Amino acid sequence: SMASPALLMRVVASAYSVAEKAATIVRNVMSAGDLGIVEKAGPNDLQTKADRLVQMSICASLARKFPKVTIIGEEEQPTDDVTEDLIEDGHCEEILKKPCPAQYTGIKEEELVIWVDPLDGTKEYTEGLLDHVTVLIGIAYGGKAIAGVINQPYYNYEAGANAVLGRTIWGVLGMGAFGFQLTEAPAGKHIVVTTRSHSSALVNECIAALNPDHVIRVGGAGNKVIQLIEGKASAYVFASPGCKKWDTCAPEAILHAVGGKITDIRGNSFQYNKEVKHMNSAGVLATLRNYDYYASRIPNTVKESLVP
Ligand code: AMP
Ligand code: MG
Ligand code: MG
Repeated sequence: SMASPALLMRVVASAYSVAEKAATIVRNVMSAGDLGIVEKAGPNDLQTKADRLVQMSICASLARKFPKVTIIGEEEQPTDDVTEDLIEDGHCEEILKKPCPAQYTGIKEEELVIWVDPLDGTKEYTEGLLDHVTVLIGIAYGGKAIAGVINQPYYNYEAGANAVLGRTIWGVLGMGAFGFQLTEAPAGKHIVVTTRSHSSALVNECIAALNPDHVIRVGGAGNKVIQLIEGKASAYVFASPGCKKWDTCAPEAILHAVGGKITDIRGNSFQYNKEVKHMNSAGVLATLRNYDYYASRIPNTVKESLVP
């Protein structure tokens, strides 16, 4: 007889459907036209009605199915008393059919931490740069990002009215990542992708030191890691605090599942246990290939300016 699927695969299969529901909410809030923008720390740290509703939807949906899992989301919204229309109880059957990597078959609910960014790229969402937006659900075990789901609600939105809008990318360490075409960046070219709305002198100094052929400035940590795995950029470089654990957990799991690497600017790996500090104070350095090339060219002065 078939053994019941491992917990990790059930969580990923549910997170896939929960992220698709989230994408529908993100699109519906935008088409309804009232974004309900609230400033958090300041004008470059925004929250919209979509951030709030999706936070409630994802956290309540996953908590109902997996009550002992620790779920940490970006927004401070109550998860009890969430209205039923925000609850997603489905799962992706195709994911459930795949075998769980052997090292993860024994994981228990209380050992998992789920990091949720309900809407990554909020600033760009409010400015109509819709393909920068992603929904991020990262799954950590033993302090490591081991699985992740990235939904891009407006993937294909510039392809015309007949194009299918949105996609879901997912991955598990030891299995690989799915829902996109893994592509290498152009050989021999150094294309850096970085922030568009959270730049600083240090961010620019660090990029200049890498002497890139081209710099792409786009919003979202999820979006930038997608640019790496689809060969649009060769390195994601952000020499600044600002990015948090919910920004990097899902992208990290997917990038690592296809052989890439993400660390802070000083080369330290990120930890995702529930007690960890949320801020990635020492920035982000990520690549699909040639991590050492970029890491070796980050100036010591930049590294010393960023305290983990
Ligand atoms: P970005 O590349 O600017 O889109 O940033 C990636 C993620 O980190 C997004 O979720 C941003 O909101 C967050 N982030 C980066 N820098 C800051 C900052 N200075 N203040 C608030 N959030 C930031
Ligand atoms: Mg974010
Ligand atoms: Mg967010």
